[in-house]
Amino acid sequence: MDTIFNCRIKRGLFKINDHRTLEALFTKFNFTDYRWIKASQIEVAHWVRFKCMFGCSSYGKKGSCPPQVPSVEECRAFFSEYDEAVIFHLAKKVEQPEDRVPWSREIEKELVKLEREAFWSGYHKAFMLFMDECRLCVNCTGSREACVNKDDSRPGPESLAVDVFTTARSAGYPIEVLSDYKQEMHRYALLMVE
Ligand code: SF4
Repeated sequence: MDTIFNCRIKRGLFKINDHRTLEALFTKFNFTDYRWIKASQIEVAHWVRFKCMFGCSSYGKKGSCPPQVPSVEECRAFFSEYDEAVIFHLAKKVEQPEDRVPWSREIEKELVKLEREAFWSGYHKAFMLFMDECRLCVNCTGSREACVNKDDSRPGPESLAVDVFTTARSAGYPIEVLSDYKQEMHRYALLMVE
């Protein structure tokens, strides 16, 4: 019994230390508004994919958006292979709708650097989901095969059928449908890690 108890304590301490290593990286990259969540809190739903297919102008035009991504069931299987994730809250007000693009681009560049450093630190399963569609290039080539930055390109949560509304709320974060671009956006990136 003692042995089992001690193992549990050691595992618990190991986990805390794990978090500290990654949290130092979050600070280094200035992503300070985040929460640890269980991967099972990430809600995956078919309706999200339907919203991409019908009603989104990026459908078929972006190298990290549907239909250039795995099926909903494959996405669900992907998330089930993790125990934990980190949700990063990124809030922004913009004057013009187009102002969102360079803001997203600069953040995405840092997010992928963070993922890479997490990987180099020994987190071999680290995988970042951007808080927007991939905006690394000014003009996206529109397909995975033709992507000009395959090393850095990542999908956004919605591209992998994540219901960001339910997921953010379950983490205790705010998110509402916006009716005006001048309202503050609440965007969410996800780092899958263990
Ligand atoms: S890296 Fe560039 S080409 Fe590749 S998906 Fe992103 S925006 Fe498109």
